[in-house]
Amino acid sequence: MNYHVGVISGDGIGPEIVNEAKKVLDKIGEKYGHTFEYEEILMGGCSIDATGVPLTDHAIEQAKAADAVLMGSIGGNTSTSPWYRLEPSLRPEAGLLKLRKSLNLFANLRPAYLYEELKAACPLRDEIIGEGFDMVIMRELTGGLYFGERKTEEVNGKLTATDTLTYSEDEIRRIAVKGFDIAMKRRKKVTSVDKANVLDSSRLWRKVVEEVAKDYPEVSYEHMLVDNCAMQLVNNPAQFDVILTENMFGDILSDEASMVTGSIGMLSSASMNDTKSGLYEPSHGSAPDIAGQDIANPIATILSAAMMLRYSFDLDKEADAVEAAVKQVLKDGYRTVDIMPKETEKKSAFTQVGCKKMGDLIAERV
Ligand code: NAD
Repeated sequence: MNYHVGVISGDGIGPEIVNEAKKVLDKIGEKYGHTFEYEEILMGGCSIDATGVPLTDHAIEQAKAADAVLMGSIGGNTSTSPWYRLEPSLRPEAGLLKLRKSLNLFANLRPAYLYEELKAACPLRDEIIGEGFDMVIMRELTGGLYFGERKTEEVNGKLTATDTLTYSEDEIRRIAVKGFDIAMKRRKKVTSVDKANVLDSSRLWRKVVEEVAKDYPEVSYEHMLVDNCAMQLVNNPAQFDVILTENMFGDILSDEASMVTGSIGMLSSASMNDTKSGLYEPSHGSAPDIAGQDIANPIATILSAAMMLRYSFDLDKEADAVEAAVKQVLKDGYRTVDIMPKETEKKSAFTQVGCKKMGDLIAERV
């Protein structure tokens, strides 16, 4: 098959890490008989420099026309870059917000996977880590508290602030369907997280999730209160497969889950809409402090490309091959600087490599 991939290389380490992901995709293409055609899309600081705005209408059209979009990262040093002297709507991040809106990306998927080889970076005790864990957090991205009505007013002489948490049943249904669809490609377990003992929006969430669950008899599901989920993530993370939750709970829980995996350079993410397309990007930023030095870790972007293969193109076997190659490279002792052990005596067991070399090693193992 031929796939048309929109590529947002972006700023900072973006172009370096995206190049390595393309290298791995090309190797997949060679091995499994696919072609990936890349079309560069300008967004972020590089778009400001070239066009005066962080995202043009042409760029939006390119992203919409692509089968999926793979992104590096955008933005610069927020204290020193001239991009941050522009008004907020013209800064690099405004481009990303506009793109998410234009593509109607309402579902955000972030995996939290503990690599056997990186166990030392996990802050949890060995007996809690056990055999490791492998979960994804499916977070609603466009509704809830962050998008509800808000105001600050004086009531009886006191400043009073109000935020509103609103969800319609349609908004809940479409994210629940995404969550159950993802579970079908994994271990077929959904934990729906809410605060139904207090919030009306959560009681509606629960009702709709139960309706959706009826269409997925193979998937087992449970409801969990968000406070309990926050505890369970650090007490028994292996129990989770797909965590399905609303915007603010997901914001907090996905950061908690990623912290327990260790390194920022390993964390992939996907944002999806109700078509097969999606935006795939690492969870980290553009790391301007290390840009251009060939030391960035490309693994989060390579794993984001694997998610693109799995969820946008239904190429599960190929996605498995990329993930296995990443595991193998770690097993073989190769590390970028961010995942090298800090203690001198432990360093001798590993080979430190740069961004390009890491990409080569993973591509070789596909
Ligand atoms: P950051 O994630 O870019 O960097 C934080 C720290 O982690 C830095 O020390 C960096 O060197 C390191 N790091 C990050 N990714 C790494 C990798 N792949 N390999 C090795 N080390 C890595 O966060 P920041 O410094 O707060 O933000 C820098 C810029 O990125 C800002 O302009 C910010 O707005 C932007 N940003 C963009 C996105 C996005 O494009 N989605 C997300 C977050 C931040």
